[in-house]
Formats: sequence, C-alpha cells, structure tokens
Amino acid sequence: MRSQNFNSDKPLLYLVATPIGNLSEMSPRAIETLQNADIIACEDTRVTGKLLSFFNIKKPLVSLREHNEVSEAGKLITRILAGEKVAYASDAGYPCISDPGAKLVQLALQNGINVSTISGPNAGLNALVASGLDTSHFYFHGFLNAKESVARNELQEIIKRKETIILYEAPHRIMKTLNMLFEILGDRQVCLARELTKQHEEFIRGPLSELVELDPTTLKGEMVLIVEGRKDEVKPDLNNEEIYQMVKNFVGMGMSTKDAIKRVSEITEISKNQVYKIYHA
Ligand code: SAM
Repeated sequence: MRSQNFNSDKPLLYLVATPIGNLSEMSPRAIETLQNADIIACEDTRVTGKLLSFFNIKKPLVSLREHNEVSEAGKLITRILAGEKVAYASDAGYPCISDPGAKLVQLALQNGINVSTISGPNAGLNALVASGLDTSHFYFHGFLNAKESVARNELQEIIKRKETIILYEAPHRIMKTLNMLFEILGDRQVCLARELTKQHEEFIRGPLSELVELDPTTLKGEMVLIVEGRKDEVKPDLNNEEIYQMVKNFVGMGMSTKDAIKRVSEITEISKNQVYKIYHA
C-alpha cells in the first residue's frame, strides 16, 4: 500500500532518534518535532525528561517500554486516532534498534497511521564507519543473549557470516564476550568502540588475541564491538606453525587438546586428523 507522509490527511506517528551521549547531536528537526507534539511517549520518563528539560521542552510524558509496550501502544494508537500528535523516543539513538518501539510501529500501521522517522545518531553505525573494517556489507546483531549457552549458539550462526558484524555489549560482560568470540570465531580483527560522542570516546582496534589481554578495569562505559566477517580465502594460506599456534592458544585458554583441535578444524576447515598431526608433529 502506498501512502505519503506529508501530503496526506492520515495521522502520523513520529519516531525521534536522540543523542547517544553528546547532546549537541540533537537535531533542530528532532527538537521541533518534540516541541510540536501533544504527548511524548518514551522508554524511560526520567531519561527523556532530562533531555527535554535541557532543551526547555515541556510536554506530558507517557512511558512505553519493553514490559508494557503492547498495552501502552494500544492506548497511544487511540489517542493518535483521536487527533493528538504523538512522538516516540527511546533512551538513546533510534527507537526500535535494541530498544522498544517496533510493536508501536506495527500497531500504528495496522490502524492506518503513517510512521515517520526523525534521523539521528546510532551507536552501531558510528562504531562501524570509524572501525576501519569493511563497511560495504554488515550484519547488525545487537546484544548477544545474556545466557552463555544461548550466546554460544548465536555465535555458531554468526561465524558463517561474511559481512562485518555489529554487536552491542555491556561493560560487565565485555571480557567474557571477547574470550567467547576468540574461542568460537578465531583470531579476527575487531574494533571496540567505547563512549561514542562523549568526552572519553575511544576506539580499540586489533585482533581478538590482543583484545582478550586488555585490562578489564579500563573498559568502562557504553560500548559496541565491530567484528570482521568470515574470510574464506585466509584458510589455504595458514601454515603449519599458525595452525599449531591456534591450537596452543585455545589450550592456553583452558580447552582440552581434543576440543582445541576440533575447534581449529571447524575454523580452518582442515580435517581434525590433519590438525592433530600438525599439532603433535
Ligand atoms: N537505540 C540505540 C541505538 O540506536 O544505537 C541502542 C540502544 S541499546 C539499549 C544500548 C547499547 O547501545 C549500549 O549498551 C551500547 O552497547 C550501545 N551504545 C549506546 N550508546 C553508546 C555510546 N555512546 N558508545 C558506545 N556504545 C553505545
């Protein structure tokens, strides 16, 4: 179905992207949209309340977050259909990107309401474009599951991807995640982007074997991990010494020799027998 947003009588829901740290990244259009709204729906009224008071915007706030998204979305749809102007903002960056909002959008569209986006910052894209890794194709995964066994299964799928991978991570889990990535994906190039757009913005670029050695106390704040995609052409170039070292690294991380050989065989697609022979030669 075709529907123009600004040349139509249809009601409109506004999705407003907000700064991921630096408030100067709030666009004039985002400010204007919030100023013109009758109600601002948001993930956390305290977080958006602070943003609004910084820009001197006074509007009624309604909370719409993961736990009440379906019920609150229904109420907002009724208000939009009754003629009220509703804008939705999550805590930071784009709504619907590892944030609530997608159910509200779906319900709006089902009810004949148009949806428009006010552009703004996104942590994953900021990190990707400065990572130095391939930007021509990328895969956004967001957060790995908090349960390790599920996260490991997710990584078994991610390992097959040739696109650059975007992961969100929390500081208390970053070392565990880096070690898991090294173990499952092998020694790929990564870029850890920390505190984007803020005073302590930092990019840590290098192979996973280096990043797993970082001092965890220096990895604070918000962070994104950009991971190199699978490179098939690397495999035939591996020499015996490199294969031996890969097994040795995994053993050094606490794996049994048998599991380390199996892992290297999976990563390199060289038979387990062959990896065994190289390791024990
Ligand atoms: N909607 C947001 C977006 O468009 O990027 C993402 C929200 S998600 C709940 C929050 C995660 O995004 C953080 O845990 C972190 O991984 C990443 N993130 C948000 N702000 C960041 C920043 N300033 N620097 C680095 N990562 C950030």
